[in-house]
Formats: sequence, structure tokens, C-alpha cells
Amino acid sequence: MTATSAKLAINGGEKSVTADPGDMFTWPIVTNEDEGAVLDVLRRGAMSGTEISKQFEREYADWLGAKYALAYCNGTASLHAAMWACGVGAGDEIICPSITYWASAAAAQSLGAAVNFADIDPGSLCIDPADIEHRIGSRTKAIVVVHYAGHPCDMDAIMPIARKHKIKVIEDASHAHGSLYKGKMCGNLGDIAGMSMMSGKSFAAGELGLMTTNDRELYERCIAFGHYERTGAASNYNAPDAQITLPYLQKFSGVPIGGYKHRANQLCTAMARVQLKHYPARIAEIDKAMKRFWSLLEGAPGLRPQYPKWENSSMGGWYACRGLYDAKQLGGLPCVRFCEAVCAEGVPMCNAGANKPLHLHPVFHEADLFNQGQPTCLAFGQRDVRQKAGSLPVSERIAQIAFGIPWFKHDRADIIAQYAQAYRKVAENAGELL
Ligand SMILES: *Cc1c(COP(=O)(O)O)cnc(C)c1O
Repeated sequence: MTATSAKLAINGGEKSVTADPGDMFTWPIVTNEDEGAVLDVLRRGAMSGTEISKQFEREYADWLGAKYALAYCNGTASLHAAMWACGVGAGDEIICPSITYWASAAAAQSLGAAVNFADIDPGSLCIDPADIEHRIGSRTKAIVVVHYAGHPCDMDAIMPIARKHKIKVIEDASHAHGSLYKGKMCGNLGDIAGMSMMSGKSFAAGELGLMTTNDRELYERCIAFGHYERTGAASNYNAPDAQITLPYLQKFSGVPIGGYKHRANQLCTAMARVQLKHYPARIAEIDKAMKRFWSLLEGAPGLRPQYPKWENSSMGGWYACRGLYDAKQLGGLPCVRFCEAVCAEGVPMCNAGANKPLHLHPVFHEADLFNQGQPTCLAFGQRDVRQKAGSLPVSERIAQIAFGIPWFKHDRADIIAQYAQAYRKVAENAGELL
């Protein structure tokens, strides 16, 4: 693409994007096949059963190469269960990156645990492996890692820290269905993974979540916590299904420990089975489109992809994809202002930042879930791991270092070129905004 000197649209120039995007951004892709699968469940009244969910679990686990999978009513519940399965309890701590959706961390509170937030790496937007070990204390039970916006975490740096301190690694794979880390699938890299499959995610199946693991005890603990229908006792909708072999859990058969019900609605797992069949081909198309977009931006000042630096690694379905911004190369132009100008070129999804830092949110500082008269993060005798503004500098600068890019679902050269041109034009004419 050639350098441009056209007047920016925000200053009254022509917009870069004029084409109708059509179904470029439509997601999930739903066909007669999804409709047929869902209608079949509806007509059979099979919403509360588990036979379709079990088929989906087997198929997804096989795709990942994992031994066990368990379907959940949503991703939040799968992460809650994963934490409990890993032994997170009252007075304990978990470590989690500050830049993520709240569900990566918030369930710790309902277990009486505190969250010690870690900073992110500015190149990957994932947890910074160098900011983990010094946070581990005698009550730390787990590290939650989030493959952020599809970018795999540096597991080869993280797992040895966890092994050394005998704590578990929980992957939040909600952004990373199909992402590869050095040839291995995200969601099968730690001790256990929880993930969302709600409608907005890359793997989208309504309101659905999934837990995956290779550890039989963690699997059984997840069943005992929220899947009473698989503990051996018969229920109205399901034949007896005894998945629990550990005696200390077996005796609770029929009633979930803690009173949680995590079963998935089979309208969603039926759709998920169809989505999975087409998912590898669909994300391959997304990957081509996104790489085309970034290749068109090669050499544009101040802009670079959030992309893994390792061999055989990928962004999966490029969920909530971001670009990385370097204001210095644009004469100090603030990222927010850059984004306003790109939006004006006809790219409404160009917003500054990503998720807001969680370590500053009052719910992690003050909320008193158990009515104990003090914040839950302290009420069970924890160390005070609450962090003030200034403590996680990269996370706190997220709106200055990252920006939204279009999430193309099809590799259509003419349309992608217009969107890339919008970013290039603003980057190359940043002087007009200074
Ligand atoms: C969406 C999301 C979740 C929560 O999943 P739900 O299915 O919405 O409950 C958890 N973690 C991350 C990182 C997410 O983006």
C-alpha cells in the first residue's frame, strides 16, 4: 500500500471505508444445520438432559487432546468450579492478571479467597511471567492465566513457577478456542481450564461454558461441585450416571457440595456440536483475513500486531483482537485521539484500550460477601494484597498501548484493504492531529 497524504476524515476529508461490510462481522455463523440441531432438542424436550452435552464434551476434548471436558451453563461457572477443584478456599489467594474480564478472578471472592493481581506484558497483553513468583505466599493456591484476545500465555515460563511452589495453573481459555502455543492447544496447557462459549466469543454457542482437564480428581471435584446429575443418583431427566470414584466425594452423591447447579442447556450444546464441526475451517479463514489486514499495515508508524513470537503459535479465532500502539512513533499522539480519527474514517470498532484494570475495582477491595463486617479479601485472615493506583503500570496504561481492530470473519481483499487504509492513513498523517 502506498503512503497517503489525504486529509483525515475527522478534519473533513474523505472516509477510507465506504464499502458495505455485508456479513464480514456477522458471528456466529448460523446455518440450517444449527437450526435443525436446536429444533430437534426443543421438539424432544431434551433441554435438561445430558446426552448431547456429553457428545459435545467428548468431541471438544478430543479436538484439544484432553482427557476430560465438562459442559457448563456459562464460562463464569466453569472458572468458579475450577478454582474450587484446585482447592481455593477461605483465607486463600489466587494470582490473576489485572487486564481480563472480571469472571477470570471474581469467583475467588465467593470461595472466601483474595485476588493478588499481576501485571501484563505489553507485547502479549497476557500475564507477565516475571510478575508472578514474588506474589506467591503460603496461602496461594492457583495462578489464573488468560490467553488474552486469543494470544497464548507464555506457559513454558509460568508452569515451572507453579510446579516449584506446588500450586495449580487454571487457564481461562475464553478468548482462545483453537489458539496454539508452540504447537499445543490453549485450554490443554495447565492443570485445568475454564472457558466461555457465550454468543460473543470466538467459539459461540449461546450461553455455554466448558471445563477441560487431564486430571481425574479435578474432573471429579468439578462434578461434585455442580453436576449432581453425574454423581450416581438418578434424576427426572437423566439415568443414573456415576462419574465419581473418589470415596470422599462419593458419599455426597445426589446433592452438589455448596449448592451449585452447573448443567448446560442442551439447546446450546446441540448448537456447539455443529459449531465445532466447522470451527477449524472458520478460524482458518479468520486467520487469513487478519494476517492480510496486518500485512497491509506493515511499516505504518506506531502500529503493530499483538501476535505470538513463538513458532507454531497462533491467535485462534482472534477474539476481541487488538493492535499495539506506540505513541512515540506518532509524535506523542494519544491513543484515544488516534482511535477517534480511525473511527471517523469509518471503523467504529477502533476503541482505545481493552478490559479495564481489575486491581483498582472496589469489589476486590471492599465487598463484604459473607456479612462479616469487613472486606471478604481480609475477613478470613489473608494478607492484605489489595493494590493501589500505580502498582501495575502496564495494566494501568492499557488505554494508551492497545486499540481495537476489525474482527473479520471472511478473507475479502477489497473490504479489508479499506479498513487497513483507515489505520494507515491516520498513522501516516498523525501530524494533522497534533
Ligand atoms: C466471557 C469471559 C468469561 C465469562 O464467561 P461467561 O460465559 O460470560 O460466563 C470469563 N473469562 C473471560 C476472559 C471472558 O472473556
